[in-house]
Parts: sequence; C-alpha cells; structure tokens
Amino acid sequence: MVEFLYMKDSYLKEFDAIVTEIRNDTVILDKTAFFPAGGGVPCDTGCLVRNGTRSDVTEVAKRDGQIIHTVQNNGIKLGDAVTGFINWERRYVLMRNHTAAHLLASIFYNELNVLITGNQLGVDQSRMDFSMENFDRSLIEKVFQKANEEIHKNHVVKSYFMKREDALKIPGIIKLAAAGTQGNDLAHFPNTPELRIVEIESIDIQLDGGCHVKSLKEIGKIEFMKAENKGKNNRRIYYTIN
Ligand SMILES: [Zn+2]
Repeated sequence: MVEFLYMKDSYLKEFDAIVTEIRNDTVILDKTAFFPAGGGVPCDTGCLVRNGTRSDVTEVAKRDGQIIHTVQNNGIKLGDAVTGFINWERRYVLMRNHTAAHLLASIFYNELNVLITGNQLGVDQSRMDFSMENFDRSLIEKVFQKANEEIHKNHVVKSYFMKREDALKIPGIIKLAAAGTQGNDLAHFPNTPELRIVEIESIDIQLDGGCHVKSLKEIGKIEFMKAENKGKNNRRIYYTIN
C-alpha cells in the first residue's frame, strides 16, 4: 500500500522513495508527496531525480488506490531509489486556494444555507458552483467580506486521522462530500479504517484528502471576481487570492 506523504505533511517539498512499478510513461512509488488531481483540485507537478538525472513529472492521478506519476522518463527503472521534488510555487498557491474554498463553502452554508455542488481550483482563479434560490450579488459579497474577516482572525487549520465510525458521526461532515467537491469525497478513502479530517478551528470540519495551509492568514485576501447565473441549481462564482 502506497504511503500518502502529502496527507501527513502538506509542506513536504521533497522526499525519497523506491520505484515499485513502471508502465509505459508512468511510475508508481512506495510513497509519494505528489498530490493526485481530485475533487476539483489540480494535481502537483515536479520531478523525480535518480543519480543526478532529472525526469519531469507532468501529471499525477489516483487509480485503484495507487498514485500514478506520468514522467518524461530519463532512465528510471524498477527498484530505483529516487528523490521527488514538488513544484512548490504551484502547490502552495493551490493549497491557499483549497483552504479558501473550504472557508467560503462553510460560510455559504452557515450564513445562507447554500450547498456547494462543484468546484474547480486553479492557480490564477478558482470557480465554485452552488444551488441558490435568491441569487443576490450583495449576499455573495457579504460572504467574501466575512471570509476575509475570518482570515484576519487567523484561525488554525489542522488535519488528522480519525476512526472511520467516529468521523462519520460528526454532524455535517459529509454534507459536501456527497457532492464530491473539494477533494473530500469518501472515494478517497475506500474501506480504510481511518478517515482524514481537515478542520478550520471554530469554523469548519470536513473529510478531505487534500493539501491545506496551517493557518488562515496564509491564504492572503480572497477576492470575488464575477458571478454567472446558469439557473437556480447552477450559480457560479469566480474568485482569486492575493
Ligand atoms: Zn477540500
């Protein structure tokens, strides 16, 4: 079973691993800090280095409980010891966007009783879809204002593992997971005895397999860019962080 290093430490930028499988242009490792795409969160990129020779990692995906790294392979072979390097600039922006998405989703839910139905995070801008009867721009602006107030309070963000049965008893914990948003779908943890929780202290608690910052101030400022009205079950907003 592969070890998901990014779930234990989102700030891990490099790691040593052994190549356990090679198939065409893909490599599987015994452990990895590369986050695979999932739930609207893009994957990491970076490289694997073997004996000083670099092979770029262009895509990372999760399949059948394995993390598949697509590489431009410069001589990596089965059983090799490699060092993985995460493209940290990209990852850190995505981490800040991801925590921002949780913060916004919880405020939409708590203040307006609105559920997020989908999202797509990006380095330059992120998108969120939700169902909302009353699509009022001033309400959306208030959500962003409140989000920035909470960032100013700098709440701690922590992740930890919990027994599956205990985690599933927490009220609301899978309210968003059902929609498969934000990387927090139960499919990320098939039949595992423990589930991973990401908590923004005194604001939000969710099942989540992704990478987050340690405190809200790291997000910076969340800016509402634009809203699109695609029918009451498909409102769409765009935001960016800076
Ligand atoms: Zn998430």
